[in-house]
Amino acid sequence: MHIEVVTIGDELLLGFTIDTNGAHLARELAQVGVMVARRTSVGDGAEEIASAVGDALDRTGAVITTGGLGPTSDDLTKPAIAALFGRALHEDASVVEALRRRWKERGWAGELPVSNLQQAQVPDGAVVLANGHGSAPGIWLEDARGRWVAMLPGVPREMRGMCADQLLPRIRARLAGTPTVVRSLTVRTTGISESALSDRIRALAGLDVEGLTLAYLPGWEGVDLRLTARGLAPDDADARLAHAAGPLRGAAGDHVYGAGNDDLAAIVLAGLRTAGLHIAVAESCTGGMLGARLTAIPGSSNAVLGGIIAYHDDVKVTQLGVRVATLEAHGAVSEETAREMATGVRVRLGASVGVAITGVAGPDGGTPDKPVGTVCFAADVDGTVRSVRASLVGDRHEVRQRSAQAALNLVRRMLAALS
Ligand code: ATP
Repeated sequence: MHIEVVTIGDELLLGFTIDTNGAHLARELAQVGVMVARRTSVGDGAEEIASAVGDALDRTGAVITTGGLGPTSDDLTKPAIAALFGRALHEDASVVEALRRRWKERGWAGELPVSNLQQAQVPDGAVVLANGHGSAPGIWLEDARGRWVAMLPGVPREMRGMCADQLLPRIRARLAGTPTVVRSLTVRTTGISESALSDRIRALAGLDVEGLTLAYLPGWEGVDLRLTARGLAPDDADARLAHAAGPLRGAAGDHVYGAGNDDLAAIVLAGLRTAGLHIAVAESCTGGMLGARLTAIPGSSNAVLGGIIAYHDDVKVTQLGVRVATLEAHGAVSEETAREMATGVRVRLGASVGVAITGVAGPDGGTPDKPVGTVCFAADVDGTVRSVRASLVGDRHEVRQRSAQAALNLVRRMLAALS
């Protein structure tokens, strides 16, 4: 089964609201084995709605809309789609009753406003989808050929609730007898570019991705490799994903740090615990982001001792013991300074692992030999020190995020070498 999603609202086109409803529906439908074939966003106009839903119906015969079910003049989803199906609207007494009851239960003053009655307008022959999470009910409208449109409210909380209570059970029932799934498996990599990964994967002899798609998803954490199986029986999908994932991991080598939604900070913490080590951080350009990443993980106190934000050179010298001569000879952004910061924080905080970051996050402060994005990292694991200089891309925020990730990755690789 293929479904199209049409999300409705001027605010989506103006960019004030991000279409999280479309994303949620796509994820939930994939769980039950249904592909969203296309997502369209349109404004609140009746013509736009009718044309987008009509085109989507012609392509798939199955459409979900969100938005435009409210009590205001810009809520035109129902009349537009009813007209498309050649149906009139009538006032549904049970919906009016439910709206009145809800109004009273909430203790709101006076009678139900007349505007709310618009929410009780239902296309002839439609099924009302009860909304246990708000006022506007949803609508299921189907024609004699079995082509259907499910209309859900725009408010994300209500939409999510109705998707779970009303929509997915109906779709599951339609799928009974054809148990296929859409399943994904993600291999998380970091410290390697998308193109370098692609070269390695293309060079793999005999990679069997038949029936699967492979997506490269780059972001500040690294590049995720996502394999997706569509329209396969659950066991077949799992077997093919597992079969293809092994060679992918092999190709990416020690750039692989996890799977699914794994967080590198959690992986580093687990590695520290396994090795019985404690970590301390020294941060310049990241100003605490690395410490925040580590301490965001519940239970981090058994492996994280603390840190020093050494932004100014004086703090690097007085708090971390970086030598003035090192700063003068190599500058604050240098592997030499990073190494002294890592050792300094390890020794001063009594940790077994010290990790340091110093760099040019921008937008100012770059020089020809140290342009914006130049960041140096070092880690000292029980006296063994390693450092790296990297050229990171992005704006200030992204350079800082990538820096914390790269520092964690350095620690991960050093811990892996211990075992
Ligand atoms: P209401 O009863 O509030 O009128 P509705 O079904 O008419 O509900 P809208 O008026 O279109 O829905 O939107 C209600 C709220 O939900 C708005 O704040 C809007 O920004 C948000 N919203 C609408 N569509 C989406 C979407 N696709 N993704 C995320 N948020 C959305």
